[in-house]
Amino acid sequence: MATNITWHQGAVSLAERQRLLGQKGFTIWFTGLSASGKSTLATALEQTLLHSGISSYRLDGDNIRFGLNKNLGFGPEDRTENIRRISEVAKLFADASVIAVTAFISPYRADRDAARALHEAAGIPFVEVFADAPLDVVEQRDPKGLYKKAKAGEIKEFTGISAPYEAPEKPEIHVKTHEVTVEQGVQQVLDYLVAQNLIDGSKLVKK
Ligand code: ADP
Repeated sequence: MATNITWHQGAVSLAERQRLLGQKGFTIWFTGLSASGKSTLATALEQTLLHSGISSYRLDGDNIRFGLNKNLGFGPEDRTENIRRISEVAKLFADASVIAVTAFISPYRADRDAARALHEAAGIPFVEVFADAPLDVVEQRDPKGLYKKAKAGEIKEFTGISAPYEAPEKPEIHVKTHEVTVEQGVQQVLDYLVAQNLIDGSKLVKK
């Protein structure tokens, strides 16, 4: 734990930065079981935002574990630390007026609530999106063959099989990925962002 450190305030406030850059930063936090569609939706959303001239950057589970979090495993403590670091990084992007789009299972409600609290304390909006599909559907999809391995006991502590998933109670957006297409799921998120005045709907261009 570092001591004798002091926060150094910048010369540009959050509001002024947003005005100068012409966009608000915030975090869109996808949560859900493996194969529920987080990465697919986050990737399509990031693409649509960028094509509309809105700066957005995706932080994705596996990718972050290649670098920043490569020293972390999948036990409860490491999962919490994984999410804590992602929350801090997302907040930094959002503070820089970028739309941070995160795609992590983030199975523990307390960890997601901590991510929300971190953002709210900094005056930065936090939009939780539940990418939801029943276990039997995600087991069927199994794009990386992980459920098969988990059920065979080859992967320990696999969310939904041998580790818990605590579904959000009041997510800002609930996308039922077994009922809607990827395009409809992305549209659901965009509609919310426009309605909340987080993005300028007139900027949005169709892919
Ligand atoms: P996660 O990031 O949650 O692990 P992925 O996005 O990697 O999930 O995988 C989800 C899989 O489900 C992909 O193969 C995707 O094509 C498929 N899929 C089918 N329908 C949908 C939908 N409506 N939304 C998102 N993904 C979907």
